[in-house]
Amino acid sequence: MNQNDFADELLHWYADNARELPWRGARDPYATWVSEIMLQQTRVETVISFYERWMQKFPDIETLAEANQQDVLSTWEGLGYYRRARNLHKAAQIVVGEMGGHLPQDAVALRKLPGIGRYTAGAIASIAFGQDEPALDGNIRRVLSRLFNLTDPVGSVQGQRRLWELAAKYLPSGKAGDFNQALMDLGAMICTPHAPECRSCPLEVHCKAYSLGVQEQLPVKKPRSQTPHFMVTAAVICQGHRVLIAQRPSGGLLGVGNPIAAAGLMKIAELFWQLRGEAGGRQVAGSPKRGLAQAWGDLMQVGTVVIMGR
Ligand code: SF4
Repeated sequence: MNQNDFADELLHWYADNARELPWRGARDPYATWVSEIMLQQTRVETVISFYERWMQKFPDIETLAEANQQDVLSTWEGLGYYRRARNLHKAAQIVVGEMGGHLPQDAVALRKLPGIGRYTAGAIASIAFGQDEPALDGNIRRVLSRLFNLTDPVGSVQGQRRLWELAAKYLPSGKAGDFNQALMDLGAMICTPHAPECRSCPLEVHCKAYSLGVQEQLPVKKPRSQTPHFMVTAAVICQGHRVLIAQRPSGGLLGVGNPIAAAGLMKIAELFWQLRGEAGGRQVAGSPKRGLAQAWGDLMQVGTVVIMGR
């Protein structure tokens, strides 16, 4: 594939078809950073309103660094994967406390901050700072897998290596930010997971998968490992209209910031067993269900639930 043709055609398409997104255009590294963290495992349509609310509340790194964690978590509430918010907050404190309030410009330094992995570092460095850095999100993986008819699973070591090589190889110097965003937009708008619109694709003539008619079979995915199920006893303790809740710690199974989640209920049961000194897997007299019922009597509803997680 000719490097210049491929990049030129893609950038030409992007100039006319780029999605209008609230974090684009200003080249504000903080805005790019926040949006990229929010976009991890979350769809663009979902992120937009959360992003706008976040930027009103924490318009710059300093404001975020000074905020208390509860404020940060409640502004994030509804987006899920709360570890992202905690890392964003922690990283803002490092940037303000140790870097004079300026995000590092190169991908290697960016990756030292909490919550910034290889993809996010490449996206920030290329989009916000104009560095020649590749980025590889789900959309870009799919587009490249099809363009080059890659048959290694995208999650495998070999598949990842090949994808990063290709993402770097075709990067047009000085235009990496637009190139990366163009691939993201192409993946979101045309080279979609199902029924890609190849006839409208600016890369149709270059696409190996399309020429072979195998575009819908790509990318190849690694078989998923099964999510474990746990049988647990959970209790809801009520008094009048009040419900006892507790926030789980950030690490471990179902660590969340949302205390209303089932995980919050789990925490109540755990607390009880810890207070009685009976945690840690020791056999107790009777079942946990009966023990909880005896201790809390009418104040409590207790049941067995199955939770899924790691
Ligand atoms: S031709 Fe089809 S499969 Fe190939 S990159 Fe374009 S949309 Fe994707």
